[in-house]
Amino acid sequence: MIHQAIASATEPEEMPQDDAGFLAVVRAFFDQALTPELRQAGRETLGVHSDIEACKVWHRRLFERGWIAPAWPAEFGGTGWSARQRFLFDRECARQDAPVLFIGGIRSLGPLLIEQGTPEQRVRFLTPMLSGRDLWCQGFSEPGAGSDLAAISTRAVRDGDSYLVNGSKIWTTGAHHANWMFAIVRTDDSGKRQQGLTFLLIDMTSPGLSVKPIIGLAGDHEFNQVFFDDVRVPVAQRIGAENDGWTMAKRLMQLARSNNTPAALVGRVLRRTAEAALAAGDQIEPSVRTRLAELMIALEAFEQLELSGFADGSMRPGDQALPSMLKLTGSELHQQVAELAMEIAGPQAAATLEAIGLAGAELDDGAKASAKHLCVRAATIYSGTSETQRNVIAHQILANR
Ligand SMILES: Cc1cc2nc3c(=O)[nH]c(=O)nc-3n(C[C@H](O)[C@H](O)[C@H](O)COP(=O)(O)OP(=O)(O)OC[C@H]3O[C@@H](n4cnc5c(N)ncnc54)[C@H](O)[C@@H]3O)c2cc1C
Repeated sequence: MIHQAIASATEPEEMPQDDAGFLAVVRAFFDQALTPELRQAGRETLGVHSDIEACKVWHRRLFERGWIAPAWPAEFGGTGWSARQRFLFDRECARQDAPVLFIGGIRSLGPLLIEQGTPEQRVRFLTPMLSGRDLWCQGFSEPGAGSDLAAISTRAVRDGDSYLVNGSKIWTTGAHHANWMFAIVRTDDSGKRQQGLTFLLIDMTSPGLSVKPIIGLAGDHEFNQVFFDDVRVPVAQRIGAENDGWTMAKRLMQLARSNNTPAALVGRVLRRTAEAALAAGDQIEPSVRTRLAELMIALEAFEQLELSGFADGSMRPGDQALPSMLKLTGSELHQQVAELAMEIAGPQAAATLEAIGLAGAELDDGAKASAKHLCVRAATIYSGTSETQRNVIAHQILANR
């Protein structure tokens, strides 16, 4: 019943099973729905998502078509596509310069709610998440808790049917766009640190909650610090049991890491870089050609790894290593491509560096390469640093010996 209530907004459509037929349907839709303005916004993406207004328009169009959450189970609003079809769809979005969506909710919280939420929570939160009415930000990191996430000190104290939350979250991507936050907060500090955390869904319009911008290296406003001053959160907005937030957060991060820097995104940046190399013609060093070829090979290997994750591995609760491998490989490859683009831009990038930081300024190609390079530095930090991912992978290897 509840599943039907959610699915009714986006009944899965029958799609051709062969690649060519599937892509023909996707392309026909893109031809009419993906306007030049949206493609432009996709091309201009510097950080983790495109211009937010373009994101909202594209989100809505995909929702109306029933294609906003291909990875979700069909009964909850997913598409019912095979792993290969999801992979082809992502790649086509990137090849056609679709906006990079602001969909942390759909990517990570949605699957967690489907697994761990109560039926009432699913009904309340999944459809607005799919439609784009609700945009979600992630409130995990704090000034004193990043890689060592168990150090969280933002406190929630039970007061009747609510918690009163006090403290602060930092580096919160899109807190200025989101109307909801999923967060972990401290509810107990008597035992092991991990055992005193609770997972809450917090309305960003709650009295006592404030958002302060943090400006990134490239002059962009993408993340924030969020302050809580006696913010009241109903107990009904808790996922899992009180003090079981660590289990919820670990599972959520596992779901999010599996597709944080997808191959499609890396492919999009590599294509741009190859175009820049072509435009530079004779002026590029022969070594650039070699590195382009090496990156292309690495991308092909990454695509295969991702496809295997889509097929079975990335959503299995016990498998910690594969999501970390995908996040690590994708983010480091992304940086290597951005570095090569910077090199191709050469003196033009250096000369225009000072244009960066002027919010809304028209950047030329050199400045764009510089700005992109600076933004992508963050890719090996957010959603767990590369060192953290290597620790997870090594831990699994050693545990299995
Ligand atoms: C662009 C961007 C967006 C972000 N968005 C969000 C968001 O939306 N929500 C959110 O909650 N957080 C967000 N973050 C925060 C991000 O998750 C943290 O920055 C990250 O977990 C690292 O924590 P930290 O910055 O405190 O660094 P630290 O944990 O202090 O790490 C500093 C350095 O020490 C290394 N290190 C730490 N511990 C170990 C160890 N045990 N072994 C080896 N090396 C170690 C790290 O790898 C790193 O190089 C974002 C960060 C960035 C850059």
